[in-house]
Amino acid sequence: MRHITADIIFPITSQPMKEKVLLISDDGQIIGIKDVHEFTEGELERYQGALIPGLINTHCHLELSHLKNKFPEKTGLVEFLLQVTKLREADIAEKQIAMEKADAEMYKNGIVAVGDISNTIDSFPIKSKRNIHYHTFVELLSIDPFKVFAVMQNGEKLLASARGFGIHASLAAHAPYSVSIELVKMISRNCYENGKPTTIHMLESNDENEFYLQGSGMIRKLYRELNIPLNEFKPPRKTSLESLLPYFNRNIKTLLVHNTIATTWDADWAEDLHPNLFWCFCPNANLYIEDRLPDILMLMDHVQYITIGTDSLASNHQLSILEELKTIQKIFPEIKTPDMLRWATLYGAKFLGIDDTFGSFDIGKRPGINVIEGIDLINYSLSVSHIKRII
Ligand SMILES: [Zn+2]
Repeated sequence: MRHITADIIFPITSQPMKEKVLLISDDGQIIGIKDVHEFTEGELERYQGALIPGLINTHCHLELSHLKNKFPEKTGLVEFLLQVTKLREADIAEKQIAMEKADAEMYKNGIVAVGDISNTIDSFPIKSKRNIHYHTFVELLSIDPFKVFAVMQNGEKLLASARGFGIHASLAAHAPYSVSIELVKMISRNCYENGKPTTIHMLESNDENEFYLQGSGMIRKLYRELNIPLNEFKPPRKTSLESLLPYFNRNIKTLLVHNTIATTWDADWAEDLHPNLFWCFCPNANLYIEDRLPDILMLMDHVQYITIGTDSLASNHQLSILEELKTIQKIFPEIKTPDMLRWATLYGAKFLGIDDTFGSFDIGKRPGINVIEGIDLINYSLSVSHIKRII
């Protein structure tokens, strides 16, 4: 049994606490929370800073880890996508080394669970080692509705392979500009039948909405450069969110990733339509690619569940949820640390369906424990903080 204490403890499901001790079993289970005065100093494992549960990264692409520092920053989404398409192929050994480093980096940064996008089986061996809980989203894309059966067949093959590796997995759609409504329907049905969550990149740039509203702009240019015909695509004349969300099953937890251009209206409309919606922000990747952030301060008042992702090392300098929170607080100093910590722990765990184990210091859970050193103990500002994993 360990008796762990620090200047402050964020249990997440209740208010921050001072002068308290976490009672932890040898295998990391929360046994209880007691008053610090019930122990002698010698019985305590004492840390400076704040204790928080293990962090949940709800959006990553482990298999793009070898693309770290390969692309220039702030070029916009379409240029970024072209670069990824051109440079993602690499020697498998090089990819494996980069993924192992990325996995170890996340572990060290106190991340206990990851929602990870896969287009191939490349990352499955690493994920099967289980030092981090991974949920794999097998990502499908094709804007051609006539290809939907072939694409789904490939998706089912990847799902079967994931099962072979003993890893959790479900299907996901890539992004509004790269899928057909038919494909979204099939993915949604598959997730419903398997009772698994799904995700899609959403409202990532103005180019995305221009493509949906007028069929023109940079996304059309992307297809031209990739030599993919757009004969079957008819612009729906509605935003990407309005066009696609109705085809996602309302009973299935659905994560919208990025939401960079989401408006109040988008948030209210989507929340009314879909009761199991989660909104993921990846601020450092947004700054890297588009040099702009979603209006998180506005959105937090209009949506129920926010989660945090790092996106991949192709568009981020590190895989650290704490660094994402620091970026949010730098741009929106009004956003309080206890709110952000709830997004980065409990709500991520809820989305992945693992909140019986992860996400808070409730008795019986094995959530992992981190200490945030350098947190301001008066207003909880994270600006000069760093994270250390204890369990
Ligand atoms: Zn992504």
